[in-house]
Amino acid sequence: MPELPEVEITARRIGAAAAGARVESAFAPGVNALRSFDPPLTALEGRRIERVRRRGKLFVVELDDQLAILIHLMSAGRLQLFGTRASLRDRASRLLVRLDDGRELRLREFGTKQRAWAKLLPADAVEREETVAELGPEAWPDPPPLMPLLDQPRPLYALLRDQHVIAGIGRSWVDEILHAAMLSPFKRGADLDADEADRLREATIARLGEAIEHYEREIKLPIPDKLPMPLAVHRRNGEPCPRCGDRLEAVFYEDYVMCYCPSCQTEGKLMKDRRLSRLLK
Ligand SMILES: [Zn+2]
Repeated sequence: MPELPEVEITARRIGAAAAGARVESAFAPGVNALRSFDPPLTALEGRRIERVRRRGKLFVVELDDQLAILIHLMSAGRLQLFGTRASLRDRASRLLVRLDDGRELRLREFGTKQRAWAKLLPADAVEREETVAELGPEAWPDPPPLMPLLDQPRPLYALLRDQHVIAGIGRSWVDEILHAAMLSPFKRGADLDADEADRLREATIARLGEAIEHYEREIKLPIPDKLPMPLAVHRRNGEPCPRCGDRLEAVFYEDYVMCYCPSCQTEGKLMKDRRLSRLLK
């Protein structure tokens, strides 16, 4: 699942490699992938890619002539740059942008659902686009103080993943950040004291920053289908906590899992398995 660090390294790598390249043609083989109709995809023909940047977990591919492609990977999308043309049988392709030097920028999506999307927009309309306009401040590199931001009666686990509250964190990195801050995923935002809010902000900056540094060392083009995420806690339930050696536990939800260390984060308390408690109702 691509989150802020994964989107950041992808934007850096593809931006550096594709800047200056000219678009030959563009297609949207995905049924629901293209969520805009004006300007049409043909408006991309002959345009040069100027840069690729990240906003939250979205990409903005900026082209000359004031055009931009806004891309949301959702949970299973990838933005990839290839040296060769896609086979028509690449069923993962949602959007293909063919460059006149023979390379191809592709929005691909794995799994059965088609949820990743792209919009072709005038560059000055990107910040007004609904998804972008509703984003909270960036979680990295310099988020604002978290105390006022998280002053809500919802658990940290939900607040930190709410893109309207703070942008860029998802199910993987939230586990890492809360573990680094030694805070319970179920602690309510409104119950944070000043020290805890500072600790959480520092942990957010540190964990996301370390991940980006890791990818800077490890990730080269083409961006692999599956990025090897440097996670110490998420999906490591049953393994020893990297800080205290206690056993990492998990709470299972329908289609995802939350991991934490009872000793470091919940005063030794075990959290209920949400799957099981629902079945027992
Ligand atoms: Zn621990």
